[in-house]
Amino acid sequence: AREWHLVARPHGWPKPEDFALREAAVPEPGEGQLLVRNLYFSVDPYMRGRMNDVKSYTPPFKLDEPMEGGAVGEVVASNADGFAVGDHVLHFKGWREYAVVDAAKIAKVDGSLAPLSAYLGVLGMPGLTAYAGLLEVASFKEGDAVFVSGAAGAVGSEVGQIAKLKGASRVIGSAGSDEKVKLLTEEYGFDAAFNYKSDRSVKEQLRDAAPDGIDVYFDNVGGDHLEAAIDSLNVHGRVAVCGMISQYNATEPTPAPRNLALVIGKRLRIQGMLVADHSHLQEQFVSEVSAWVRSGELKFSETKVAGIENGFEAFVGLLRGDNTGKMVVDLTD
Ligand code: NDP
Repeated sequence: AREWHLVARPHGWPKPEDFALREAAVPEPGEGQLLVRNLYFSVDPYMRGRMNDVKSYTPPFKLDEPMEGGAVGEVVASNADGFAVGDHVLHFKGWREYAVVDAAKIAKVDGSLAPLSAYLGVLGMPGLTAYAGLLEVASFKEGDAVFVSGAAGAVGSEVGQIAKLKGASRVIGSAGSDEKVKLLTEEYGFDAAFNYKSDRSVKEQLRDAAPDGIDVYFDNVGGDHLEAAIDSLNVHGRVAVCGMISQYNATEPTPAPRNLALVIGKRLRIQGMLVADHSHLQEQFVSEVSAWVRSGELKFSETKVAGIENGFEAFVGLLRGDNTGKMVVDLTD
């Protein structure tokens, strides 16, 4: 069976030679364990941080060992009560074809309620990030005008739609292509959207899209997006700092927002978040969002890259913006 190893720590953009797809023996499950054949594994922006050898909220990936991450697979051998061959499970040993997992640490998922890959995206970790970040961290309330960056991605597309469903007065998104912008306004119900790669600055485009200002900014990007949001935020505005993907491959310190002093007069609250702090919302999130998905009120996209051999490409593709919605590697074939 094949698995992806990190073999060198990337400097700047990850390069193919920093990774290796290696053969390994399929392990035997011990007591309380399952052998799982992975069907989908997730590539996520935070994994870029785990490739660096720095102290952070998750430890760095070890060199010459399989990388980790969310995955959904099928149980092919069970040594644990409550799990049978053929069950589908969500676990954390992605980036490989077969995994041995401790039954105590994983969850069963039901492919008849939602596509299995949805448990890595709209109904999974990115979905909870969107839900908790908007409702809890940004203290969203009905009538707020919301701006979200990375709006065509897994987290961002869900933030915008949840805000709409919860009564936002206006939802604005930014994304990196005209096609993505069109998707936001025509499919996902955003009131306005713009392409941050066009000639006009983010600040100008946001001002035009939100003439009455914004009350909440959900930050997936950082940099000039954060600066533009601070410019457009109304008094008592809130920022949930979820990600700063524009800086993940930076090799030099990045500039702070130059207008940070506006925080004072506007009495802004800028708060970082980690999804792991919000597991108390998991049940409420799944019940509310899965109902919206079933009724068609909340739409989601997935970009599936087929074949384990394309795992590296899928990951850098995600950092480049090749994806619309959740990026997953599809091993079902
Ligand atoms: P996405 O599905 O949004 O994929 C990443 C997207 O980022 C790309 O599609 C690309 O879209 C965009 N992007 C890449 N480079 C830039 C750039 N320089 N400027 C602006 N946009 C860029 O990923 P996720 O939904 O999984 O994650 C979104 C954010 O949320 C990330 O920052 C991630 O780190 C963060 N996150 C944080 C969590 C937490 O607990 N704090 C948990 C989960 C995610 P485009 O074509 O529009 O450029």
